[in-house]
Amino acid sequence: MNDRLLIFIGPPGSGKGTQSKLLCKNKEMLSISTGDILRKEVTDETNIGKRVSSKMKNGQLVSDDLINELFYKHFELEYKKNKYGIIADGYPRTLNQAKYLDSLSKDFGIDIRVCVFLCKEEVLVKRLQLRKRQDDEIAIIIKRLKDYYNFIAPVIKYYGNKINEVDVNDDPENIYNRIISFLN
Ligand code: AMP
Repeated sequence: MNDRLLIFIGPPGSGKGTQSKLLCKNKEMLSISTGDILRKEVTDETNIGKRVSSKMKNGQLVSDDLINELFYKHFELEYKKNKYGIIADGYPRTLNQAKYLDSLSKDFGIDIRVCVFLCKEEVLVKRLQLRKRQDDEIAIIIKRLKDYYNFIAPVIKYYGNKINEVDVNDDPENIYNRIISFLN
C-alpha cells in the first residue's frame, strides 16, 4: 500500500484538492499538491516564490525543471512517512513532467495509478468563480482551462491503460465513492 502513487489529473476546479483531502483524512494517504507548495513559496516570499508569482497570477504553468525539482524534494520527504500511499495533486501537468515522474517512480519502486477527473466546462467555471483566488478571475480561468487541455492531452495518451476516468459533475461524496471503488 505504501508503494502506491495515485495521480490526480483534472482541470482547475474539478475537485482534486477536495478529494485528496478526503483520502488523506479517511485513508491516511499523504498528498503532494504542487499548487499548494508554490502558493506557500509565494506567501513566504522565497526565491522560488518570487520567480513564480507572476506566472501563477497569470495562470501560466511554471517551468518543468523547477516543478520536477520541487516535486522530488517533497516526494522524498512524504515517501519516508507514508503508510497508505501518496497522492500527486496537480502533477504531472505536461509530458516532460510525466516522463520525469516515471523515472522517479521506478527509482522508488512505486506503482502509479492515474485518476482523470472529467467535468463539464460550465461546472468548472462556476466553481472557480466561487473560490475567489487571485488566478480565478474569468479571463485567467478561461486561459488556464485552455492550457490545461492542450498540455494534458499528451499526458493522458502517455498513461494509456493506467487511466481511470472519474465523472466529477457530482457532489464530493459520490465522487469520493467512485475513486474508492477503483482503488480497492
Ligand atoms: P493549482 O492549484 O494546481 O491549480 O496550481 C496553481 C498554479 O500553480 C498553476 O496555475 C501553475 O501556475 C502552478 N502549477 C501548479 N502545478 C503545476 C505543475 N505541475 N506544472 C506547472 N505549473 C504548476
